[in-house]
Amino acid sequence: TPAPTSKNDSSITTNSKEFKPSRPLTGDPSLFPTRRTLPLYLYQDRIRSILSKKDVLVLVGETGSGKSTQVPQFLYQERWCQRRRVKVKTKVVDKDGNEIMEEGGKPKTREETVNVGGVIAITQPRRVAATTLAGRVAKECGTPLDTSGNGGRGYKGRGPKGKDVKGPKGGKDGEEWDEEKDVVEEMGKNGGDDEEVIEANGNEKKDKKEQEKGLVGYSVRFDHRVPPGTKIKYVTEGMLLQELLRDPHLRQYSAIIVDEIHERSVDVDLLSGFLKQIVTGDKAGRGGIPLKVVVMSATAQVERIKKFFSSDDSLKNGTSGEEVEYLQIEGRQFPVEVIHEPKPVPDIQEALIKTVFKIHTQEPLSDKHGKKDILCFLTGQEEIEAAQRLIEEFAETLDPKVPKVKVFPLFGQLSMEAQHEAFQPIKHPFTRKIVLATNIAETSVTVPGVRYVVDCGKAKVKQYRPRLGMESLLAKPISKSSAIQRTGRAGREGPGKCFRLYTAETFSTLQKTDLPEILRTDVLGAILTMKARGIDDVLAFPLMDRPEIEAVENALVHLHVLGALDDEGRITEMGRKMVMFPVTAPYARVLLAAADQKYDCLLEAIDIISCITAGDDIFMQVRSEEDKESVDVYRKELQRREGDLITYLNTMQRFVSTPSSDRATFCKQRRINVRNMRQALNIRKQLRSLSVKTKMLEDAPPPDSEVTYQPVSPETAERILKAFLRGFAMKTAVLAPDSSYVTAHGKHVVAIHPSSSMHGVKREAIMFLEHVYTQKNYAKKVSAIQAGWIAEALAC
Ligand code: ADP
Repeated sequence: TPAPTSKNDSSITTNSKEFKPSRPLTGDPSLFPTRRTLPLYLYQDRIRSILSKKDVLVLVGETGSGKSTQVPQFLYQERWCQRRRVKVKTKVVDKDGNEIMEEGGKPKTREETVNVGGVIAITQPRRVAATTLAGRVAKECGTPLDTSGNGGRGYKGRGPKGKDVKGPKGGKDGEEWDEEKDVVEEMGKNGGDDEEVIEANGNEKKDKKEQEKGLVGYSVRFDHRVPPGTKIKYVTEGMLLQELLRDPHLRQYSAIIVDEIHERSVDVDLLSGFLKQIVTGDKAGRGGIPLKVVVMSATAQVERIKKFFSSDDSLKNGTSGEEVEYLQIEGRQFPVEVIHEPKPVPDIQEALIKTVFKIHTQEPLSDKHGKKDILCFLTGQEEIEAAQRLIEEFAETLDPKVPKVKVFPLFGQLSMEAQHEAFQPIKHPFTRKIVLATNIAETSVTVPGVRYVVDCGKAKVKQYRPRLGMESLLAKPISKSSAIQRTGRAGREGPGKCFRLYTAETFSTLQKTDLPEILRTDVLGAILTMKARGIDDVLAFPLMDRPEIEAVENALVHLHVLGALDDEGRITEMGRKMVMFPVTAPYARVLLAAADQKYDCLLEAIDIISCITAGDDIFMQVRSEEDKESVDVYRKELQRREGDLITYLNTMQRFVSTPSSDRATFCKQRRINVRNMRQALNIRKQLRSLSVKTKMLEDAPPPDSEVTYQPVSPETAERILKAFLRGFAMKTAVLAPDSSYVTAHGKHVVAIHPSSSMHGVKREAIMFLEHVYTQKNYAKKVSAIQAGWIAEALAC
């Protein structure tokens, strides 16, 4: 049977039994049958053929059709995908990264021979998707990843913590801060000369050891598994942006596969801009070797994306106006019956529990297609954890004849191990799996076994108000496109059912698609990302959607206040250091201030930032009145009059000085989220080791067991708050004569959120790290400060 090569997609009717691809499958033969049934299988020759001629392909196919796992395997053996040694001209830069000019005003260059290509990167919006996909593809390739747990770092003990990692080198400060850098450098060395190399003149040196080496790897924040010889590398979008700092031409790669582009995260939009520049710009930095880009989407609304990569409206040099290749994969989906609520439900939580148990008690546990598990879409961690408790409690009351249930939460802030658990099949035959997920499970990961979907119809989204200069996270109705994706999850493995906890009428009023994140978020981080990668004129940078000019201006002002940009809007030394930290810019600024002798409170700042960035608030909401009293008594002991930040510090310090065996009780009494506390400890460890590595800390801090708990003095608390003000001077408010708090920047009224220990307290001024806009303009994570400190912080 001829391989499908026609231009008309609908002509691909060949079934997988008849289809003989031009290149047979390789890897683990036991997985061939499954791979052959994937819709993508039939398109492999077509995809290879397109990419042998073109540089950009937009590929649309339903979730589960095999895009993320198969496409890189189709491509890595292509001739264009081999590593080459080429001569390139590199611009010479000074230690601040500025070009050095020759007489006559031309940039000074030097010629060098470098390796280009050899690796395919596949970007993912989420860490869990990158690591699970790498695991799956490594297995399919017959080179399973070693997941025996070296703490998830590097390979063979190398990596940031490995013995043979070099310490920071002198010279460019900015480059010393990145924990990931060492790994990439190590990789460069190992993936180097013994690779298959094609000299620029075409002579091939075949590598005989290929089979023995790992083919697949991944690289996500704090976790890298890139074995020597890696050709297929799953990375988060953020990681690839980080790599662009050191390698603006992405020389390591032959192709970048941008997966899940329909999610339109800020990172993927930025990445698309950089890729467009590489693809359409001159290729001198890559020795003339093109970078192939495959853009993949689970939804067919890709007009904007196609146009962006096709037209050449924003870049004058390079290819012009040519249409990119486009391929839509015919999906394979079982029918899904959609059941709406007859009338609006007053309480989502209650409706969820009722629906889950209706399914569990009335629907079979399995059928000829396999297990029939339940996937519920909820808004966030708090809702998921509350639902988990209720489901588990209710399940206890069921008749022993009814099958058991096992609940798995799945949200981004969950530890990787816990996220992976949700993907494992349950061995026990008499148990049904119930996965409670955020929109993480919408398209980016495939939870096997799901045949029932329960959709609450909402998702937490960021909302930025340029006029207030503030961002908040709110649960909002999802788009039609999301609702349809969620429904689709029930029909992957057999016919399914989707229970929508909203009416058919509500569905009809939903917006068609979601607004891209870049239009509804604070673009501070995005702009710093661009500036650090040499984009001076951010308004000229190619973006699929442009944020409002007001949002860009606010961000530029804010970055200037943070000291990341100078008066001309150029990135400063401080700005370069800030982008190297795995936290947002204001927090990075706080860490840098805290390391300064003037404030000298780095360990304290790390403790606080770890608690805050570990997920939802570590202090859970207390619902029942009875609990509240006793919890309040315990919590009062932790609270400090300086406000929430010093309370977090106190909590972390008390927690780590509590013997391990008593920590669970410690958390329970105070209704502290154990999971988040564990995550906070993890972040704390990472930030501490990063601080030692970058010499922000002279010596490694002593182990917690050797430290006796001592509450911080008011003087230290003042230094800590002043260090935080260096990052958050824009988030301050002063008490007005009418007893309301008025923000120092913008002069808006804010109220202190009831979740804050400062609720109802009046002080001359406050600093708040977060903000929500519900009925009122609320400040969260609030501390008491002096009005004079604000001016002091702004003047620095
Ligand atoms: P897409 O990118 O189009 O959503 P994927 O390539 O991610 O599709 O998945 C294709 C199929 O591979 C899935 O339907 C599933 O059967 C299988 N698969 C993917 N990831 C895993 C995994 N971690 N474990 C087991 N099977 C998986």
